[in-house]
Amino acid sequence: MNPHPKLCIHTITTKPWSVETAIGKYAEAGIGGITVWRQWLEGRDPEKIGERIRAAGLEAVSVCRGGFFPAPTAAERATAIEDNRQAIREAAALGAPLVVLVCGAVPGQPLAESRQQIADGIAAVLPLAEELNVRLGIEPLHPMYADDRSAINTMASANEVCDRLDHPLVGIAADVYHIWWDPDLAEQIALTGEKNRLFAFHLCDWLTPTVDLLNDRGLMGEGCIDLKGIRAMVEAAGFNGYHEVEIFSNRWWAVDQDEFLAKIVRAYGEHC
Ligand code: ZN
Repeated sequence: MNPHPKLCIHTITTKPWSVETAIGKYAEAGIGGITVWRQWLEGRDPEKIGERIRAAGLEAVSVCRGGFFPAPTAAERATAIEDNRQAIREAAALGAPLVVLVCGAVPGQPLAESRQQIADGIAAVLPLAEELNVRLGIEPLHPMYADDRSAINTMASANEVCDRLDHPLVGIAADVYHIWWDPDLAEQIALTGEKNRLFAFHLCDWLTPTVDLLNDRGLMGEGCIDLKGIRAMVEAAGFNGYHEVEIFSNRWWAVDQDEFLAKIVRAYGEHC
């Protein structure tokens, strides 16, 4: 009996653990799903890792991450597209239905141009996604990352790209860290649900102060995000997928990961 069937953890959350260790520990903790970051597949056969995930009673929820489509030259954009095709193949081999896209941006390049390159890049990989039946989830990133990580910074902006591509395999990965501040959040989440494109829901918390732009996310309950409120929004929008804990944190990576995992499970029960 699995006590936390909707809970999923990203391998990067417990960064010190190998994928094999993470699979064993998550299963032992009664967690339902795992999202595998591609670095954890390096030197491994994703098919075998997928088998191991299922044998442990877990589900492979998604692969993180594809994206980073914008680049100054056509050659670099072509390389990015090829890398995204590889991510799609890895997801298919792993048995994961989704690749999460951190879409990319180039400092100094107009954001509108980056958005066009993102839409073009996704369009270029869609035939393979269709062939392998892998969904692509655009993850809007907090605007503090608009310089070099993503030109897609709101749910509305992600929905625009989805509208442009208008394809059932293209949707949105909603991460509370990136979208909690958005005054249009409730209506955008509702709209995303209506269009059947709410593909994933990521959890963590926003710390005050945040001391590192990338690696200082909080455990749920440590920060100021209305986690229960946002969960209610995604559920009202028809989302019934996994609740994925994705925490980049130098602080949490430095502690005993067994204790951290126990804290994640507790925090999920109390604050989400
Ligand atoms: Zn995320």
